[in-house]
Amino acid sequence: MTEEEHPKIIHLHKPTQCVLWEQPNRIAGKFVELLEEVESYEDGSHLTRSLYKCRECGQLYFHEWYEWVDWKEGKDKIYTTLIPVQTPAEIEALKQTDNFTLLMYFPRLQLDGGKPRWMVKTDPHFRPVTVRPPTRPKRAPFDRGWPPFAVESAKTGPDWLL
Ligand SMILES: [Zn+2]
Repeated sequence: MTEEEHPKIIHLHKPTQCVLWEQPNRIAGKFVELLEEVESYEDGSHLTRSLYKCRECGQLYFHEWYEWVDWKEGKDKIYTTLIPVQTPAEIEALKQTDNFTLLMYFPRLQLDGGKPRWMVKTDPHFRPVTVRPPTRPKRAPFDRGWPPFAVESAKTGPDWLL
């Protein structure tokens, strides 16, 4: 096991003051009402990356919209990710990621298909073993062998994580 095979997980500050932390569903169909674009980094036909700001609390979110083009099956998939950021260094680091290394960042809000949900990496030193529910929610993109670590889906917000 080398560092390269197991990239480091990066824990970012949880935006507990933001309405989206407790109620991620609020963003469904209300993206523009809740978030304001601050800066655009990439604007392609299959990938856009930009910085958004919560209109309510000012929390910054790095946003990626990514269309996975399936040339074989013709079933394209769209992934939308929001990652709460606080510092210019965090933003700069996220700009350097690609679609895969972006998944090293926790927590992040996934908006792809179905319910918006926070992906949270639980810290084994902070919390005992998590009992997984018998039926897992819909798999995260690239969850089949990637990322090479367990990903938990926060079902009931931060209380569930404590
Ligand atoms: Zn907010």
